[in-house]
Amino acid sequence: MLKFENVSLKYGSFLALEKVSLHADKGELVVLLGANGAGKSSLFLTASGIHQAAGGSITWEGKELVGSKPSTIVQSGVVQCPEGRKLFPQMTVQKNLELGAYVHRRDAGPSQQILEEVFALFPILRDKKDDPAGSLSGGQQQMVAIGRAMMGRPKVLLLDEPSLGLAPLVIKQMFEVIQRINQSGTTVLLAEQNAFAALKIAHRAYVLENGHIVREGKPDELLADDSIRKAYIGA
Ligand code: ATP
Repeated sequence: MLKFENVSLKYGSFLALEKVSLHADKGELVVLLGANGAGKSSLFLTASGIHQAAGGSITWEGKELVGSKPSTIVQSGVVQCPEGRKLFPQMTVQKNLELGAYVHRRDAGPSQQILEEVFALFPILRDKKDDPAGSLSGGQQQMVAIGRAMMGRPKVLLLDEPSLGLAPLVIKQMFEVIQRINQSGTTVLLAEQNAFAALKIAHRAYVLENGHIVREGKPDELLADDSIRKAYIGA
């Protein structure tokens, strides 16, 4: 289980997360809904060891992540796919993907195998493997970003707004792949503003507002809730 307990985060004197508690059971696909600035990225960056929590605990399979180096956290199986993709646009697609395996670089054989698995998830990336990542469409670049995270062999994948800026049809395909990744055994924590599409594939969801968890529920409960629909679905 990935467990956040009373996690707080400060940027200077600004409290971006205040005592956030949530969990994702092994094999679950859990969605974190929240508007711009709610704190979704901050929560993921804290789990990844990029930001240091001001308080609280984040554990994966009972092991404390707060205070660990980002590389150690990736090695333990918790891998983030950041908002905005953060690719190296001049490097080829394959090189970008290989960077995701950096922390496991000593065993080159399995990396080749995982690269094949990524190409099986996103066949278009095999065709584009020698192209600069920056020449790909937005949807294809998001595939590279998710593929790069998969190269880190996640047991838990932290996906930060994968649908950002993508066309509806591409979003649909992206969410189908995310569901497949989850069904093949990877626990997924998915931060999204695209609530409708995310809730369609989620097992459970939380709502984050101004650094606080304000709701938790099953997708059907949240989809049936007028205040949630108004705030996050626009209906
Ligand atoms: P978005 O989708 O817009 O990224 P989010 O839910 O991921 O939204 P965060 O990026 O985590 O939200 O931001 C939470 C709050 O913390 C916001 O008020 C934001 O302005 C602030 N914040 C984020 N990063 C920093 C930083 N490095 N320094 C100071 N404040 C920050």
